[in-house]
Amino acid sequence: MSESMIIAETSKGIVSPVTAELVSAAIALGTNPTVIVPCTDSSIADSAGYDGVAKTIAIKGDCFTNYDASSWASAIDAVMPSGSIVVAATPQSKDLAARIAAKRGLAVVQDVVKIDGKNLTSPVFSGKAMQTVSATGDFVISVRANIFQSASEGTANVSVIDQSGDVATAVQEIMERASARLDVSEANVIISGGRGMGSPDNFSHLERIADVLGAAVGASRAAVDTWDEIPHNMQVGQTGKTVNPNLYIAVGISGAIQHLAGMRSSKYIVAINKDADAPIFSHADYGIVSTWEETLPILEAALSSMMS
Ligand SMILES: Cc1cc2nc3c(=O)[nH]c(=O)nc-3n(C[C@H](O)[C@H](O)[C@H](O)COP(=O)(O)OP(=O)(O)OC[C@H]3O[C@@H](n4cnc5c(N)ncnc54)[C@H](O)[C@@H]3O)c2cc1C
Repeated sequence: MSESMIIAETSKGIVSPVTAELVSAAIALGTNPTVIVPCTDSSIADSAGYDGVAKTIAIKGDCFTNYDASSWASAIDAVMPSGSIVVAATPQSKDLAARIAAKRGLAVVQDVVKIDGKNLTSPVFSGKAMQTVSATGDFVISVRANIFQSASEGTANVSVIDQSGDVATAVQEIMERASARLDVSEANVIISGGRGMGSPDNFSHLERIADVLGAAVGASRAAVDTWDEIPHNMQVGQTGKTVNPNLYIAVGISGAIQHLAGMRSSKYIVAINKDADAPIFSHADYGIVSTWEETLPILEAALSSMMS
């Protein structure tokens, strides 16, 4: 089944009820929906769980305080997985949908009022006539309100991609969210570094955090191949070790498919990468878009005080 990304409608810090209608529209398209919640506070995504939706992604960034078409489209496009895109037919979301469609080279159908398989019907000539187009591949639609029944509420399985640059708050939130899923003080933990660590000496930052947590240190193949000081027995991935810890922290690792093969079944995945486009973010329960230089000292301090 193909994927669809529903960009949730939000208002005054909450996810609007029309989002539940978009879920039904996405299911009518025969797609497997993920809900994307642009926000400044990821806790609002906790209410964005619906029957039929496996995953909710909160994209957290300061740019989402007020609507700015260009910065919203760039921030969402950077981290939203591929698939068809479904939004509400509000002026703001139609604008956003068109911009993201242009970035991704996708066709757009606005104001959809009927979905029959991949046949999409929308009004034209100020509603004097209806047109039906047949969509193929991935596409973008905006859906009018009060057409589709609202999907029932369900439990939201939220992952967060934090682009806010407020690393201290992000680290705090990682602790809270990870603690809700596992006992961090007793979790078996692996913290792995990639080529983004810059030099083998910088693995000492990972080792300090590992000491605090009683964790093991791993590495990507690029790190192992680049630096003689990082031994091959640390490599995680297709041609390295397969690991299945409660908590996996990937630092400066892009998230290549061969690395994911060795760690994607970890219970809770945290990713720290300065590139919002890094594929690792599509697999992380919590991703911080930042450098490790900024993030690791704050993470170490937070973990030290939690464990003491
Ligand atoms: C047959 C085969 C088998 C393979 N097996 C494995 C395997 O077992 N395991 C494995 O890992 N790979 C494996 N690979 C290699 C894999 O394809 C990738 O090349 C490798 O995983 C990339 O490692 P990386 O993410 O550390 O490096 P890169 O791809 O170079 O990524 C570095 C990342 O660090 C980020 N970064 C840079 N500076 C900073 C900073 N200051 N702060 C935060 N982030 C920063 C960058 O944005 C980038 O995303 C295999 C490849 C092949 C072909």
